[in-house]
This record gives sequence, structure tokens and C-alpha cells, in this order.
Amino acid sequence: MSLFQHAVFFTSVADWRDLPTPEGEEIAFAGRSNAGKSSAINALAKRKRLAFISKLPGRTQQINFFSLGNGRYLVDLPGYGYAKVPVTIRQHWETLLSKYLQTRKKLRGLVLIMDARHPITTLDKQMLDWFLPTGKPVHILLSKADKLNKQQANNALHHVTETLSLCHHQCTVQLFSSVSKIGLDEAEAAITAWFGPSLAAVSKIKNPRLKGSKPGVKRLK
Ligand code: GDP
Repeated sequence: MSLFQHAVFFTSVADWRDLPTPEGEEIAFAGRSNAGKSSAINALAKRKRLAFISKLPGRTQQINFFSLGNGRYLVDLPGYGYAKVPVTIRQHWETLLSKYLQTRKKLRGLVLIMDARHPITTLDKQMLDWFLPTGKPVHILLSKADKLNKQQANNALHHVTETLSLCHHQCTVQLFSSVSKIGLDEAEAAITAWFGPSLAAVSKIKNPRLKGSKPGVKRLK
């Protein structure tokens, strides 16, 4: 059973002061609104509606925490780039998100979901600008890969690799689809590894790709 299958809703917060205490470890998921973040979390957790809790009225702009057990958390950050959000609310969220990404000590890594057909938007770059100075790893899921043919998928991977060549030591990128499950095992392995070998062992991932090269997961050159 994968680590993410243990996920249970823990809490939602809208203000910095309400964040859970900084013990334990967490991995955050971020992405432009509609990029496929909720679907990716649900696919990893092998559940239908886990992350859609964040889409309930009143919860849309909250940071949602899911406990994975053993002091580990999956953190669903609010989707960005939604045009209808009033400026004052957007500013509040930008402040909270930037502070969270830049200063949250227990944060082990950031999973950034981008629609493979429109990757690296200005706001995606903004997220990276906030997070990369921490030196922590970023794993990019190029979502909805089922909508691309092989050539288009390779082009998307190439484009992201080239655009982010400066963060090669911190960033990995792969194709992903919540619908066809392209890249699901690779994503699970890459993200779980951030919690350290002991937990990866506990989650009993027997993916042989973990040991050697990981087809599908590309370290940026
Ligand atoms: P979020 O706003 O980033 O959480 O995006 P959602 O997960 O709600 O997905 C937005 C839309 O894209 C929904 O209609 C999903 O069904 C669709 N979607 C998400 N992931 C995929 C995918 O991998 N393949 C396809 N074809 N559609 C997807």
C-alpha cells in the first residue's frame, strides 16, 4: 500500500497563525487552478474525492492538511491564477503562500502541477522564485499527458527542462495523467523518497525503478 493511501483529512487553515505546529514533515502540492492538482492528489491516494474537499464552498482558498500517519502530512495549497478572485483576497493568499513556501521548516519538498499543454506560466515561475532559494527539491508533474501524443509530450518535457535548466540540481520533471495513470508510480516513488528511506520502506513501495534510473522522471540538466 502506498503512503498516500493512508491520507485522512486533518485540518484547513486560512491564516498563518493557524498552521499546525511545526513538528513532523510535510510535502506541499501547488498548481495553477484547473491544472489537475486535486486529481493528482486523488490519483496518488487512490481515492475519488479526497482532495475535492478543498473545493467545498469556503474551503477553496484554504491550505488543507492531510495526515499520512507518523507525523507526515500532505499539504494541498490553494490553486492560483483564478481570474475571479478579488485583488485584496489574492494579495492575502500571495502573502500566505510565499511565507509558507519560504519559511516552513518542516516542508520537505514541493510538488508543482502544471498542465502539460501550458507549462511554466508566470505564476508557476513565481512559485519557483519563492521556493527555490530554500534549496529544497521540486518535483514537477506535467499533468493531463493523456491529451498529448508522444511528440507533443516529448516537446513539453523538453520545453520545461530547457526553461528550468538553472534549477537542475533541485528540480525533477515527469509526464503525468490522473486519467490514464501515466507516471503515477514514478511520481509516488519520487515524492515518497523525500520523507526519507525509513518511511519509503514503511510504505512498502516495491518499484524497481527506485533503485536505478527512473524512466519517465527527468532530472533537469
Ligand atoms: P485543480 O483545480 O488543479 O485541482 O484541477 P482538477 O483536478 O479539479 O482538474 C481540472 C479539470 O481537469 C477537471 O475537469 C479534471 O477532470 C481534469 N483533469 C485533471 N487531471 C486530468 C488528467 O490527467 N487528464 C485529463 N484528461 N483530464 C484531467
